[in-house]
Amino acid sequence: MNHSVNLIYNDNLMSPLDASKLIIQKTTTPNEKLANDKLVFGKTFTDHMLEIEWTAENGWGTPTISPYHKLTLDPSTIVLHYAFELFEGMKAYRDTDNNIRTFRGDKNMIRMNKSADRICLPTFEGEQLQQLIDKLLVLDESFVPKGQGYSLYLRPTLIGTSESLGVSVPDRALLFVIASPVGPYYGTGFKPVSLEATDYAVRAWPGGVGDKKLGANYAPCVKPQLEAAKRGYQQNLWLFGDEGYITEVGTMNVFFVFKTEDGKNELVTAPLDGTILEGVTRDSVLELAKDKLPSDQWIISERKFTIKDVAEKAAKGELIEAFGAGTAAVVSPIKSIGWKDQEINVPLAAGDSGELTKQIAEWIRQIQYGEVEYKNWSRVAK
Ligand SMILES: *Cc1c(COP(=O)(O)O)cnc(C)c1O
Repeated sequence: MNHSVNLIYNDNLMSPLDASKLIIQKTTTPNEKLANDKLVFGKTFTDHMLEIEWTAENGWGTPTISPYHKLTLDPSTIVLHYAFELFEGMKAYRDTDNNIRTFRGDKNMIRMNKSADRICLPTFEGEQLQQLIDKLLVLDESFVPKGQGYSLYLRPTLIGTSESLGVSVPDRALLFVIASPVGPYYGTGFKPVSLEATDYAVRAWPGGVGDKKLGANYAPCVKPQLEAAKRGYQQNLWLFGDEGYITEVGTMNVFFVFKTEDGKNELVTAPLDGTILEGVTRDSVLELAKDKLPSDQWIISERKFTIKDVAEKAAKGELIEAFGAGTAAVVSPIKSIGWKDQEINVPLAAGDSGELTKQIAEWIRQIQYGEVEYKNWSRVAK
């Protein structure tokens, strides 16, 4: 019997997260909205933020939306020492009827709960947090920018707030959501990126936590990016193992398109083996590709493949295109990969991306901005 785990998860007397208890304190000093061309990713925030405290004793407290403010933490707070922190990244979009929409937020809620469970932070019913986020969106609606490629980036975060230097199960936590208006990742059009295949540093490993959105996974990846930048590359293509398995690119999932021996196209990405972040964009690309690409011409694969496979395909003219996939950029075309002393060039058949990259970007954009309804993937905030 593991009593410490039972204490956290098996107490029916504790309050569940309940959106109907929301209290709203509106700002009396509204911020000025920046013009679209002044927006910098994650630098400015909306007038309000959402917070919910949790204690092991009482469960989830009263959800509160109040003016954006600094947090006050005791220096001993457990998040500052042992990285009890996880986050999500999702976006809200303004449609042509001025509704505010989120894209597949239910997937973010599931992933957030998986991350929380892994580091002994409290879980919650995802629909309740989605309803609370909707309320924040309605209140700060005027911060959701208008225009193609513009959106409001949402950052749900959960931290352990026990005040103690003991490494233990947190008995206090804070869930908060802040929101930042953002422009299109690449300005107008795509800007294909160059990658350095990275094998001297490893992002994630079997049995590790690379498949969870824990803050602790990200700081160690900044130095390898800096190293790659010194050599003229924009991002790391994270390899794993002596075989050089391709896992992810920067903080995105990665897709390649190959010509197969019998003249078909294969869209391939690494399988969810515990070392790959379960991207919502990754899942969307796979579902749309299976649904919309002709199955007699396309094979959609989640399988292991190596940098050597990519180099061989490129040498035979069978590398068609490659792109990263994640909420920030949606899809990010790849133009080249430096690997050892080779430079693998990736074709850009549509000018600054491959044809499929461009097509997928458009399919997803139409759903995000409510131009096309698809499988309840888009939710109007009410
Ligand atoms: C967030 C993230 C992704 C992309 O996930 P989305 O849900 O598509 O935004 C991919 N890889 C890593 C390492 C990430 O942190």
